[in-house]
Amino acid sequence: MAKFSKKPIELLQSIDYTPPRTDWMSTPNDFSMGRWAYPAKPEKVEYLMHELPGVFANPREWSPGDVDWKLPSNWKDIVHEGFKERLDKYRSLKLFMDVCVRCGACADKCHFFIGSGDPKNMPVLRAELMRSVYRKDFTLAGKILGKLTGARVMEEDVLKEWFLYFYQCTECRRCSLFCPYGIDTAEVTMMARELLHLCGININWILEPVANCNRTGNHLGIQPHAFKDIVDFMLDDIETITGKRVKCPLNEKGHEVIFITPSGDVFADPGIYTFMGYLMLFDAIGLDFTMSTYASEGGNFGLFTNADMMKKLNAKMYAEANRLGAKWILGGECGHMWRVINQYMDTMNGYLQGPQMRTPVNPITGTVFNNAKQTKMVHIAEFTADLIKHGKLNLDKKRNDYIRATFHDSCNPARGMGMLEEPRYVLKNVCNHFYEMPENTIREQTFCCAGGSGLNTDEIMEIRLRGGLPRGNALRYVQEKHGVNTMACVCAIDRATLIPLADYWAPGVRISGLHELVANALILDGESERTMNLRQEEFEELFAQEEE
Ligand code: SF4
Ligand code: SF4
Repeated sequence: MAKFSKKPIELLQSIDYTPPRTDWMSTPNDFSMGRWAYPAKPEKVEYLMHELPGVFANPREWSPGDVDWKLPSNWKDIVHEGFKERLDKYRSLKLFMDVCVRCGACADKCHFFIGSGDPKNMPVLRAELMRSVYRKDFTLAGKILGKLTGARVMEEDVLKEWFLYFYQCTECRRCSLFCPYGIDTAEVTMMARELLHLCGININWILEPVANCNRTGNHLGIQPHAFKDIVDFMLDDIETITGKRVKCPLNEKGHEVIFITPSGDVFADPGIYTFMGYLMLFDAIGLDFTMSTYASEGGNFGLFTNADMMKKLNAKMYAEANRLGAKWILGGECGHMWRVINQYMDTMNGYLQGPQMRTPVNPITGTVFNNAKQTKMVHIAEFTADLIKHGKLNLDKKRNDYIRATFHDSCNPARGMGMLEEPRYVLKNVCNHFYEMPENTIREQTFCCAGGSGLNTDEIMEIRLRGGLPRGNALRYVQEKHGVNTMACVCAIDRATLIPLADYWAPGVRISGLHELVANALILDGESERTMNLRQEEFEELFAQEEE
């Protein structure tokens, strides 16, 4: 694994925004170690080819650092046919290929361009990598006039360039916010990745989780008995902290709600504290819920591969709601899971909803979630905000007084579903000290964690830290100005990727989920006096540190 040792100041000094001497089509690509993630293991590709024929291909040992990528002999035809099929199927792709006017409004909005200075990381040029081939293959002008119209022939170097740069896009959609034509480069990236998969060009950090999700229901491949053991450990911890044994029913039929959260909340620090927070909240309000060990992954890694895989993995949510007889689904703190739910779930899989499913109603407040009428799925931040608004939670904010919090809007809940106010409302009701990062780095304009869309792997740490520069810079600003020591977010991938980013750009700031902070403040009926937070750190010591 490539080790990244550049200090922040060295990284900053190395960013060069001077355009290269050669035009972009003639600038060679750099395939040195550390610039790409490892390709998928052949057995993972084979498994997925068997489970979902037609969209994955060419299992083999290969490396992007090699000259020979062992492509199928007819790879050009495969890409051409796949491109054609998608242009026919998705009107948006055709539009995005045709309408860019090169105004440049998106050029400096991508965190990867800001942190690298590489022109091919400008969204306009990233899409051009694909558009140039589109022009040559699918437009009359491109066919006749060639390079004069910005068209180019699909060659092996072009395909390799696609791999390099479409895996340096986190599909965050910040660029699309600034495009006057609404061109969504994230969707261009999604299409490029679909075409790459057809030739067996992929990364393991996406395909292994996808294979695991398909096989056992979650991205680590945790089996049901192991899932239960992990949950039991967390129930033990909650008991140690509160003196109360709360419940987490698994695979039980006949409950009103099925709760589905990203599996990162179940096994990884600090997500586990957020998971403990959910369970404490459900105990406090007496929620009639169950979880499923089959739909044990809210995150949809299929989104990072192709539409068919995304649809297949998403379907398990309704399958389990139906099997267990739940009326509606409550969803945990996740980013891309909500992009799939909010933008695709109803049209992809809405027909799978069982007759028992209903428009979600908060059983404690009576609030009808009409916004979830189609999907039957409610985000836990809006659920908790509703409980707080109706005075249904007993909260002691002072328990979080050692925390000086800021909030990172995760790209998908913020830009993908417009969830901007609810998490802030919750945070301000459980923390006394809350500070916003600069305006052009939050809400719709939020900067990405630089590890989404399957890029949170360590072998590309330099790329992640470069891409994390804008978020890290904003975090450093509130750290220095307001003494911020905690960045909360509502995304499991962010909870993992923001830790190295904060350690690098704003050391001393810790990352937390929203419901970890809710549960710290939450007073449960019959609990013993709390002396520690959910991380089992003593309040006395934390407050003493804060005073120093
Ligand atoms: S979607 Fe995000 S990562 Fe991709 S080009 Fe646009 S701003 Fe950059
Ligand atoms: S902002 Fe839109 S129209 Fe302008 S260069 Fe970028 S993608 Fe093209």
